[in-house]
Amino acid sequence: MAIVGGGVTGCACAHVLAQAGKRVRVFEAREVAGGASGRNGGFALRGGALAYDVARRDLGADRARALWELTERYLDRLEELAGDAFRRTGSLRLATDASERAELEAECDALRDDGFAVDWREELPKPLAGRFDGAIFHPRDGSLQPARWVRRLAARAVEAGADLREHEGVGSLDELEAEQVVIATDGYTSGLLPELDAAVKPTRGQVVVTEPLERRLFPCPHYARHGYDYWQQTPGGRLVAGGFRYKALDHEYTAEEATTPLIQGYLEQFVAELVGEDARITHRWAGLFGTTVDRLPLVGPLPGRDGVWVSAGYSGHGNVMGLACGELVGRAILGEQVPELELFEPSRLLPA
Ligand SMILES: Cc1cc2nc3c(=O)[nH]c(=O)nc-3n(C[C@H](O)[C@H](O)[C@H](O)COP(=O)(O)OP(=O)(O)OC[C@H]3O[C@@H](n4cnc5c(N)ncnc54)[C@H](O)[C@@H]3O)c2cc1C
Repeated sequence: MAIVGGGVTGCACAHVLAQAGKRVRVFEAREVAGGASGRNGGFALRGGALAYDVARRDLGADRARALWELTERYLDRLEELAGDAFRRTGSLRLATDASERAELEAECDALRDDGFAVDWREELPKPLAGRFDGAIFHPRDGSLQPARWVRRLAARAVEAGADLREHEGVGSLDELEAEQVVIATDGYTSGLLPELDAAVKPTRGQVVVTEPLERRLFPCPHYARHGYDYWQQTPGGRLVAGGFRYKALDHEYTAEEATTPLIQGYLEQFVAELVGEDARITHRWAGLFGTTVDRLPLVGPLPGRDGVWVSAGYSGHGNVMGLACGELVGRAILGEQVPELELFEPSRLLPA
């Protein structure tokens, strides 16, 4: 069996297959976690890219609940596997203005009605007070050191017998002799199969990191403006902040993995205002994630391609979903019935 992509998805899938005694080889063009899995904001959130009430409306109540329950189970799985690369901090989803506040209140009500743990935060501490208008606290979410986590997962897969080939890019699926192939390349999918290129749009995210701040301001991951802007403070005190894609949306749908002065400028200004001190930026980078038109990933067998599977298109929410979907695909390849895959059926966006 062959897996293309050594991020969280590919490593999770390889881990399951190798543990079941299968011969599995992972091809990674760069290094493990060289893609989005090592470049992301480190938010480990339940759910997907849709708000819960929107998911209930668009997917139906049962499927929305199934998706949220799946990701809650996989937050527990992440905690079990990730060791000190994961902290169960909760996450704070902030309203930027009155209209976003109304949306968050509706989401909070929907979650509560369906029995999911959730808190509304009216009083916000400094430096959030006056800047944001209420927030949802999701107590079961967490914070990741993403590259450390995925390297650890890769090491588990190798221990179980997987053959991990770094710096071995796959130019075409014809090169692979495996009976089953899994494409786990999320936003870096370009060029392997035309139908995937059409369905999974590369989307760029940019990040800045400050030197350690003097004060501990943010005990958990924070995100605002419909999730576009996000930040968290690492255990060592650095602020990691990303977002502002909405300032140049068309431009940020790109497969070019490079920072831009425009978005970096917004991020720097935002960080300076938020922390109220002149915090030096020490690191900056860009990464790609894959977006689909309905903001759900494509996970399962590819229509019309015998033995080819995909798990990609998490639309910016691949930390927990990537672990879940990588494992689900592995279990399906092993012949298990995996009812959760119905949520992500590739044929909905990829007609045969
Ligand atoms: C800046 C940024 C911030 C984000 N923040 C969050 C967040 O806070 N929370 C969250 O849940 N999600 C977040 N995401 C999304 C999340 O990081 C991804 O959805 C997730 O990491 C996808 O994992 P993956 O293993 O599927 O893909 P990736 O980690 O992208 O791995 C794909 C790998 O495939 C390799 N590859 C591609 N083509 C080939 C080929 N032909 N041959 C061999 N190898 C190949 C690439 O080199 C890459 O390493 C963010 C993404 C970015 C870019």
